[in-house]
Amino acid sequence: MIQKYDVIIIGAGAAGLMSAIEAGKRGRKVLLVDHATKIGEKIRISGGGRCNFTNTNTHPSKFISKNPKFPISALSQYTQNDFINLIKKHNIKFHEKKLGQLFCDESAQQIVDMLLLECQAANVNLKKEIIITDIYKQDDQYFITVGSDKYLCASLIIATGGLSIPKIGASKFGYEIATKFNLNIIETLPALVPLTFNRKILTMCRELSGLSLEAVVSFNKTFFEEGMLFTHRGLSGPSILQISSYWKLGDNIKINLSPKLDIFKFLGSEKKLNPKRDINNIISEILPKRLAYIICKENDVRGNISELSNKSLKQISNSMNAWIINPTGSEGYRTAEVTVGGIDTNEISSKTMMSIKNPGLFFIGEVVDVTGHLGGYNFQWAWSSGFVAGQYA
Ligand SMILES: Cc1cc2nc3c(=O)[nH]c(=O)nc-3n(C[C@H](O)[C@H](O)[C@H](O)COP(=O)(O)OP(=O)(O)OC[C@H]3O[C@@H](n4cnc5c(N)ncnc54)[C@H](O)[C@@H]3O)c2cc1C
Repeated sequence: MIQKYDVIIIGAGAAGLMSAIEAGKRGRKVLLVDHATKIGEKIRISGGGRCNFTNTNTHPSKFISKNPKFPISALSQYTQNDFINLIKKHNIKFHEKKLGQLFCDESAQQIVDMLLLECQAANVNLKKEIIITDIYKQDDQYFITVGSDKYLCASLIIATGGLSIPKIGASKFGYEIATKFNLNIIETLPALVPLTFNRKILTMCRELSGLSLEAVVSFNKTFFEEGMLFTHRGLSGPSILQISSYWKLGDNIKINLSPKLDIFKFLGSEKKLNPKRDINNIISEILPKRLAYIICKENDVRGNISELSNKSLKQISNSMNAWIINPTGSEGYRTAEVTVGGIDTNEISSKTMMSIKNPGLFFIGEVVDVTGHLGGYNFQWAWSSGFVAGQYA
């Protein structure tokens, strides 16, 4: 027997749950399915268990897409304030951590519970552990096969997310459906991910493992000034995660380990004023001791600053103010927070999130070629794009 719905949503993550709530509120008969055993796992583990659910500075410039204007419509139809109001309605307490990033005071599970409650109120039929074996279109209706069961709907929403963290349910499914319906896909890559390096830099990272500092990390004209962390696998921390979404394999990144200080100028004046001072002691004033020691060693400088040529002072300054390194890769989807690339936004209406070639077929959330910066923007994209599809499906 075929079960008929107005709207079927595949993927009960952030975007899928939001679209189900909105479509349900409009009186549509909604089925929301997921192949996972637990609903909303990515929300639950997000933000270190506190879910950075939005950012008060949400603006289209905080998103990466082949078409940077694409997110404008959805972000204005459902803003960060709309989601904040929903949180307030459910009495979930939250705080701003930094840079407009809003986190739950208690637990990310509160967001999952809130969305499930809203689904219930909107009469959404939610089914987990559903393995879809086929999807096809016939006479403007979409048919979904699940083993021996069949479902049909007029509006099908794909909300299967990106490829990061496969062990909690990420799959290629959304991209495969897009290909099946002749939609173009922008190359997908792990993003908001730690970067890895050759043996020489890796050895240094290992020696400094656990050390963090404020740094400006740049790639071409894009730069981020946030924390950077040395780890036993390479470099991480917010500034590295942010730049990883832009960096291309084979290219260099530039790191300023002391953004507030022109080190060459500072060393020049030290040489004049305190010629007998040891260079390692001077650098230790600027950077953490362990890092200062390694920088002096790598640059092969020691002794009184007066004994060092301006050329070697320039070299050592550059290694701090403009350290140029070539990542060999990233930690990949195993640890990436998101996927850049995805369904080409040229294929989708920015106003409705519906496929232009396939009326009734919608794509929302991370599966689309829209990726937010670190800081709650990816959830805001999921809420906004989910809301929009929920209005038109
Ligand atoms: C560790 C971690 C921490 C994060 N922290 C934050 C944060 O604090 N703030 C922020 O803004 N962003 C954060 N993100 C990113 C954010 O979680 C995602 O961008 C967001 O969840 C995307 O929402 P989505 O609904 O598009 O996809 P998802 O939330 O990934 O949901 C997709 C759903 O589809 C299901 N699915 C996949 N394939 C199939 C299939 N074949 N059949 C049925 N169902 C399927 C999955 O099981 C999943 O439930 C974090 C990501 C990670 C990995």
